[in-house]
Amino acid sequence: MNDPTSGTVVLVIILMIAAVPVVRYIRMKRYFASEEFQSAKAELSAVVKEHNEITDYASEIRNRKLFELGVSSTGGESHLATYENTSRHNYKRDRNVANFQAPNVHNCSLQVVRNASGDPLTYLMRYFDIKANEQSLERVESLGESISSLEGAIQNLHDREASITNSINPPKFIMKHYRTRFMEQMGVELSPIEIPYPEYVFEYVSAGGNSSQRTTVKLTSDTIDALIEKMSERIRFRKSAAGQRALMTTRLRSFIKDRDNHTCQTCTISVAAEPHLLLEVDHITPVSRGGMSTPENLQTLCWRCNRTKSNKVPA
Ligand SMILES: [Zn+2]
Repeated sequence: MNDPTSGTVVLVIILMIAAVPVVRYIRMKRYFASEEFQSAKAELSAVVKEHNEITDYASEIRNRKLFELGVSSTGGESHLATYENTSRHNYKRDRNVANFQAPNVHNCSLQVVRNASGDPLTYLMRYFDIKANEQSLERVESLGESISSLEGAIQNLHDREASITNSINPPKFIMKHYRTRFMEQMGVELSPIEIPYPEYVFEYVSAGGNSSQRTTVKLTSDTIDALIEKMSERIRFRKSAAGQRALMTTRLRSFIKDRDNHTCQTCTISVAAEPHLLLEVDHITPVSRGGMSTPENLQTLCWRCNRTKSNKVPA
């Protein structure tokens, strides 16, 4: 250990390891300042601008539409009381305190928790008061539409980000270590929006609070489509007109887009002309004004035309 050269070697190795991120940082700074990057950025400015407009549109959808449905009967009146755990032995009970306050949590027996995992839709309808009637079906369908338009917008943003990255093709280390900074430098606003899939929980908490079990049902597009099918099987449509209408599911939305050749029925822009075009399915006469979910009352619109229309006609 007294050999001075071995000490120097160790020191050099340490300095080299420490230098890696510093060198990478300097290379990154150089890349973003380079002529090559700056001109690529200028060329894509229109693409970036449109990406950011869709980011705004996604937050509009998030704020304008409802993402809720049904309430647990155990939580319906909980706002009338306050809950406190007054047990003297509650020092480690925090984890297993029954959540009577949350509307999306149904407190029930262990048997119900287990049955709900086997037959989630039936239990969801029964315990969260989602009745098999036309009104309630319309609410579920409209939730499905909100989720599908937000999913569509967010997927579209990801596709656009991938295409921006591909057309610039930055050095590998940039995308590996500085992806967020790359998007920032490009002027791309990354959407912080997550899809607020409603979640319904069946929860059993033992009397002593020592154990708990839960089954969670998350309303993704697939779950919502299955729920719509199940509800419609149970509804005896009183008026034949309502019975004639189609179910507003993912399948119907893609049928309408195919029928319309993935072309906006207002401005005639199409996916063929613009591969990343965000298309939506619109009720020509809105549901709120008695419009039905029939193929004749449905049309494909691009997000811009649909946005303009939604701003004129409150949904
Ligand atoms: Zn259009």
